[in-house]
Amino acid sequence: MRDSAYAYLFSLIHSPTSKGIITMASCECIVMCPFFNDQMDGMPEIAEKLKEKYCLGSNVDCARYLIRQQFGAQAVPGDLFPNDKKAALRLIHDKLSA
Ligand code: SF4
Repeated sequence: MRDSAYAYLFSLIHSPTSKGIITMASCECIVMCPFFNDQMDGMPEIAEKLKEKYCLGSNVDCARYLIRQQFGAQAVPGDLFPNDKKAALRLIHDKLSA
């Protein structure tokens, strides 16, 4: 998984059309994140748009990132998509209420 992630990042950085898509704002979880590395079942067709918005844009709004920050990577549900903030907030609420 790591090799493919590095290869993808390399291709983005060195693509003549990338125009510097990898920025300081890119999520620090990119290398290990199952979503970014297409390791999740049922990846939506809009996955590339979500990667642009969350992974290469602003991870502070990412549902997966929110849970990871609160409870660690092992607590992130395997099927959680970055745009499902409602599910993330519900999970955080449930964990804090337990
Ligand atoms: S899906 Fe979220 S946690 Fe994973 S790399 Fe993208 S922004 Fe980071």
